[in-house]
Amino acid sequence: MNKTAVKQKLSELKGFENSRIELEQYLTPAELAADIVYTCYMQGHKTVVDLGTGTGILAIGADLLNMDVTAVEVDRDALSTAEENAAKVGASPNFVRKDVTSFNGKFDAVVMNPPFNVQSDEGLKFWRKALEIGDNVYGLAGKGFSTRLKRLCDEYNHELIAREAYKIGLPASYEFHTEESKSTPVDLYVTRRKK
Ligand code: SAH
Repeated sequence: MNKTAVKQKLSELKGFENSRIELEQYLTPAELAADIVYTCYMQGHKTVVDLGTGTGILAIGADLLNMDVTAVEVDRDALSTAEENAAKVGASPNFVRKDVTSFNGKFDAVVMNPPFNVQSDEGLKFWRKALEIGDNVYGLAGKGFSTRLKRLCDEYNHELIAREAYKIGLPASYEFHTEESKSTPVDLYVTRRKK
């Protein structure tokens, strides 16, 4: 399946029914999700974990490209939508209901759109877990995260190898965002474990 076909399938998926703001639930746009999983595929990653899979878009994309996919999510409602979405497009990632901090394993790649709040521990616990269990990490973050991430990379013996800028729209359910800030700049960071 090529990238356009993956994007097409991902754009048919359902998003969050009732976004839980405390869990920073928002959907990655299909085009960006397709970019991330297609890059993993081109890099030859075989085993992939999606941390905080939400309604499953990254996990399902990776599954459609025949990677061996595990998807971790704490919220029951989001997971049931993710399962419904997977069935709809004939994907079958291995869904696990867990807090990411208590999840363990070893994977060629981690893909994630984690909570952006790195002031509290919410976002950071995703990055720490990702750098621990993944040989390659593809994660989205808010602007200005690179200094922090470089320090984390040092701690976990990873190197930051790429950063790419995107804009994503946040859903209207996030009432505290103004009209302009509905288009939010984000960065996709790619890290790799040092040999
Ligand atoms: N990966 C999805 C959802 C991103 S939103 C996508 O790209 O569209 C972040 C997700 O992380 C939400 O679904 C939220 O419920 C989940 N989450 C937040 N804290 C978590 C935790 N501690 N453990 C597992 N999942 C968590």
